[in-house]
Amino acid sequence: TMANVLVIAETYEGQLRNATYNSVSFARQIVDIEGGSYSIAVLSDAPAEHASTLATYGGAKVFTVSHESLAHYAADTWSDAVAGLAKSAGASHVVMSSSTQGKDLMPRVASQLDAGMAADIISVHADGGETRYKRPMWAGNIIATVAVDTPVHVVTVRSTDFDEAAAVGASSEVQPFDWSPADSGRTQFSAFNASGGERPDLGEAKIVVSGGRGLKDEENFWSVVTPLADSLGAAIGATRAAVDSGFAPNDLQIGQTGRVVAPDLYFAVAISGAIQHLAGMKNSKCIVAINKDPDAPIFQVADYGLVADAFKTVPELVDKLG
Ligand code: FAD
Repeated sequence: TMANVLVIAETYEGQLRNATYNSVSFARQIVDIEGGSYSIAVLSDAPAEHASTLATYGGAKVFTVSHESLAHYAADTWSDAVAGLAKSAGASHVVMSSSTQGKDLMPRVASQLDAGMAADIISVHADGGETRYKRPMWAGNIIATVAVDTPVHVVTVRSTDFDEAAAVGASSEVQPFDWSPADSGRTQFSAFNASGGERPDLGEAKIVVSGGRGLKDEENFWSVVTPLADSLGAAIGATRAAVDSGFAPNDLQIGQTGRVVAPDLYFAVAISGAIQHLAGMKNSKCIVAINKDPDAPIFQVADYGLVADAFKTVPELVDKLG
C-alpha cells in the first residue's frame, strides 16, 4: 500500500515554525520510498492564513482543524484532534518534529491510534521493501535502526537532520476537518510565559552563541556572551556545567540532556567540548571555538579555533563586528 503521510504543522504564538518544513522534507522521503502522497495539517483557532502558505508545499491536501480551544497548544485537545484527523484521513504515517511540542503530543497520538512510534529519528531508508528509521541513543554514540510493525507509524523527526523543504508553488486542496473537544477537557490553557524576550529561540536561530564554565560566574557569563549575541542577532546557549553552576537557566542548556541545535554558525566560548555537549551542537554548519587551552577537545570539531582568553578576545570581536 502507498504512503499517506500526515505532517502536523508547528505553530508558536500564531506563527508557523520552520520545523514544519523539516518535517515536510521527511514526508517527501517517505513518498520517495513507499510511493503515495503527503498532506499537512494545521490546528489553530484561525488556520486559514497558514493553510494558504502550507498549500504551496506540494501536499495532496492541507487539512485545517479550526476551533477556539486550539488557539494554544494543549496535550488533551491536540492529541484528540490529531488522532481523529489521522483516522478520518486514513494516514499511514503521522509526523511532527521532535520539538518540545512534538515530544509531548505524538506519544499521545500514537497511543490513541494504537500505533508504534519512532521517536527523534535522524534518517529513513528502505531495507528489503520495509521502511526503517534511524535514531541516536546514548548521546549519539549508538545509532539504532527502528522498525515499526503497526499499520500506522507515528514519527517525530529531529529537525536538524532534515533540510527545510522549499515551497513548490502548486496549490494543495485545503480541506477543513470538523472537530470539537469531546468534553470540556481535563486541562485548560491558562498562560504561556516565554523566557528570553526578544532573542531568537534556540531551536530556530541561525546563529547561536554558547558559553561554558570557563566564564567563571553568572555576571561574567552574561557580560561576555550577551554583546556577541546581540551583535550577531544570535540565540544564547550554555553547557550543563554553566547551567549547574547557576550562570544560565536550564532551558538554555545544549547537549545530550538539553536542546539539540544545528545553526549555520555556532560559537563555543570557554567550552571544553565534552561528548555530551557535542551531542547537542555537532551538526552546526560552522563551529567557532574560543578556548585558552589548545588541547581542549572542542577544537577537534571546530571549523575555526581561537586559542585565546575569552575575556579579552570576545570584546575585541564584538568591537570588530561593530
Ligand atoms: P568545562 O569542562 O569545565 O570547560 C571549561 C573550558 O573553559 C575549559 O576547556 C577551559 O580551558 C576553558 N576556559 C577557562 N577559562 C577560559 C578563558 N578565560 N577563556 C577561554 N577559555 C577558558 N554537558 C552539556 O554541555 N550538555 C549536556 O546536555 C550534558 N549532559 C550530560 C549528561 C550526562 C549523563 C553527563 C554525565 C554529563 C553531561 N554533560 C552535559 C556534562 C559534560 O560532561 C561536561 O561536564 C560539560 O559539558 C562541561 O561544560 P564546560 O565545557 O562549560 O566546562
